[in-house]
Amino acid sequence: MQDLGVDALLLSLGADLPWLTGYEAMPLERLTMLVLPVDDGATLVVPALEAPRVQERADEFRLRPWGETEDPVGIVAALVGPRRRLAVSDRTWASFLLGLQEALPTASWSRASVVTAPLRARKDAEEVAALRAAAEGADRVATQLLAGDIRLIGRSESEVSAEIGQRLRAEGHERVNFAIVGSGPNGASPHHEPGSRVIAADEAVVCDFGGTMAGYCSDTTRTVFTGDPPAEFRELYAVLQAAQAAAVQAAVVGTPCEEVDGVARGLITEAGFGDRFIHRTGHGIGLEEHEDPYLVAGNREALAPGHAFSVEPGIYVPGRFGARIEDIVVAADAGPEPLNRTSHDLHVVEA
Ligand code: ZN
Ligand code: ZN
Ligand code: ZN
Repeated sequence: MQDLGVDALLLSLGADLPWLTGYEAMPLERLTMLVLPVDDGATLVVPALEAPRVQERADEFRLRPWGETEDPVGIVAALVGPRRRLAVSDRTWASFLLGLQEALPTASWSRASVVTAPLRARKDAEEVAALRAAAEGADRVATQLLAGDIRLIGRSESEVSAEIGQRLRAEGHERVNFAIVGSGPNGASPHHEPGSRVIAADEAVVCDFGGTMAGYCSDTTRTVFTGDPPAEFRELYAVLQAAQAAAVQAAVVGTPCEEVDGVARGLITEAGFGDRFIHRTGHGIGLEEHEDPYLVAGNREALAPGHAFSVEPGIYVPGRFGARIEDIVVAADAGPEPLNRTSHDLHVVEA
């Protein structure tokens, strides 16, 4: 904060607060906000009725519960005091920020992520272990998918999505964040919302799912085929598989993020599918499903030890099918460590 010229951090909704305090603010009309001055101890301003859920850490922050008739914005403003350069969490509701700006008219404002994002992006050993455990839980579900334990043919995408969610919970996730099932032409929409479409034989099915285990997120994608894949799809899939593997190999410490994207995109473009790869190669992952660093053209930031991110190229043919392979990878001095380890080979699921 000193380096960046920030006098106080103000953290409300989002992952910065639980990252520092272990407490996640409720998305409520009642304000929760950690006031963390650069030159003084931190105070967690919290609605009195939520205070029992806060695990107090007296050495790290003090608690300031506020009652129903108090003005939390005024309490925060008083704690900020004469400090002027304020960084507020990116997910703070506009209603609170506008109130704070009125109460602190001479303050200058920036995003808290200026301070927190580079710190949160580099995971320590404990965080990597948590990401690994979550990935292993998701991998057990992916293994069941590849083995044909999750019936596909004759069921709707939303039924299959619900079963994947149940299995994530059974494998230790306390929360399911998403379970995308895109069958046939729906697979060409990367964030397809699973719906009533019934999965038929001889279709590609893109399954992208993840959840939260001990606070940290999983996220993996496997694409299966409900029958013998035609040559055209096999060829496309082989390009994708090679591109994903090459991008993982390229994710060594010191490499700019955009270069990892460039490796996957280069191979896919060379094979003639460049305009079918319609998203970045990956996103950071941690307490949030999507956070820094992003593997995208224009991000020249170099990978550092502890950076955790997805490598998930895809090829999408509108009206027909799509395919994506996604693993979470951690950059380490010893080389890139993929946390997801289920097979990348094209699996036929005739169930
Ligand atoms: Zn996504
Ligand atoms: Zn995903
Ligand atoms: Zn992802």
